[in-house]
Amino acid sequence: MKVLVVEDEQKVANFLQKGLKEEQFVVDVAYDGLEGEAMALENEYDLILLDVMLPGKDGVAILETLRARKLEIPVIMLTAKDMVVDKLKGFEAGCDDYIPKPFSFEELLARVRAVLRRHSGAGTNVLNFADLTLDLISHKVIRGGKEIELTAKEYSLMEYLMRNPNRVLTRTMITQHVWDYNFDSFTNVIDVYVNYLRNKVDRGFSQKLIHTVRGVGYILKESDKQ
Ligand code: CA
Repeated sequence: MKVLVVEDEQKVANFLQKGLKEEQFVVDVAYDGLEGEAMALENEYDLILLDVMLPGKDGVAILETLRARKLEIPVIMLTAKDMVVDKLKGFEAGCDDYIPKPFSFEELLARVRAVLRRHSGAGTNVLNFADLTLDLISHKVIRGGKEIELTAKEYSLMEYLMRNPNRVLTRTMITQHVWDYNFDSFTNVIDVYVNYLRNKVDRGFSQKLIHTVRGVGYILKESDKQ
């Protein structure tokens, strides 16, 4: 899952970026409202953490722009303690949740997971596909009862595939959801990582789950289903 953090306080931004990366999220950061808005419009994020008081353009105005453009991406607003006015404005503008500063990372993470669960309609922290299971909290991936050890990037890729089963995912879509802003799209990094993942997930199983769609990208599906 890819998160955009729009936060001008370097310390808070670093704290969020570090914590979310440790929880296997891919994170982009913008330190300014205009930059944040441009990144939100340009990329496909799964969630935005949006500070209210920002240089350039404030968080509520950014959220209004996103919603006016029919972008339904979940947004959690970060704001100063007791700013009830901010909170009301944020909900009016269409934010999904609101968290007052200062907050603990655990608290934020719980809100992030709750909003993502609600948004996906999954209602659970475990993703299943065929005999594969991915636990979003413990980050354990299990196939056929056996745990598979994945690196952080392989895990992010696996999660993205499992959130979109039976759907052709182009390299562009994979890039947008699994790699951060600094990704160089002129490399074959995606193919390399898909192969790493295949070696861990499909090798030794007669039923292959990760398939190449030639000239397009990849799909997670059971072999006999087209
Ligand atoms: Ca601020």
